[in-house]
Amino acid sequence: AIRIHQVTKNFGKKNVLKDINLSISPGQIYGLIGPSGSGKTTLIKIIVGMDVPSKGDVQVLNTSIPNLKALQNIGYMAQSDALYPELTGEENMAFFASLFKLKKSVQKERIVYAANLVDLSSHISKKVGTYSGGMKRRLSLAIALIHDPQILILDEPTVGIDPELRLSIWNELIQLKKKGKTILVTTHVMDEAEKCDYLSMVRDGMILTSGSPSALKAQYNVSNLEEVFLKAGGTNS
Ligand code: ATP
Repeated sequence: AIRIHQVTKNFGKKNVLKDINLSISPGQIYGLIGPSGSGKTTLIKIIVGMDVPSKGDVQVLNTSIPNLKALQNIGYMAQSDALYPELTGEENMAFFASLFKLKKSVQKERIVYAANLVDLSSHISKKVGTYSGGMKRRLSLAIALIHDPQILILDEPTVGIDPELRLSIWNELIQLKKKGKTILVTTHVMDEAEKCDYLSMVRDGMILTSGSPSALKAQYNVSNLEEVFLKAGGTNS
């Protein structure tokens, strides 16, 4: 579903991504794990067409990005929420749904589904300006899902969300995967990394190691992913 070929990104003299190659099969939850500043967000922005690589090529659904049709098949949740504080949760969802030209009846159905999925149903008539940080994260996730995209790209989706809801969101992501969605997710949380089908651990703009959680633990002969990261050349910072 997503193919990244020799992607390098420089900001001035700063080399933020170094020859990244990765391939994300359809129907997979693919995790990008790495410390702050390792380049995860930069890579994600390049995949969703919001930044351009200095070198290399990104294909989404066999099309070079940016391509309008491919982009319309992506649901993107950015690291910082871009919401309208003076509108209600429902109005925010309706606004983004209208950008995807969903029919009114479909729109209503999707709003109910997405709000329920992130446990916001009882708050959607409140102004977003009154929401907590976690509620805004949940609304952003609901918006990423609003047009039923084939591919979901989620940059730290569960930051600020309490552990119980975090778990239920992950269960939903697994259900979405079972329905054939492809999900790319960044996280710092190793418990979440365990739930991915495949991981790439990144540091300083390079992929240190990749594999399924169980294959990685076997390869490095350790019992948890934190240790895999350290043995593969990561740091605790
Ligand atoms: P975090 O989880 O904190 O977002 P990250 O792994 O997503 O970290 P990036 O946000 O991709 O990391 O940042 C990687 C590096 O690129 C950082 O050193 C950052 O300062 C730098 N960087 C990102 N965007 C720009 C920019 N527009 N101009 C200059 N440097 C940038």
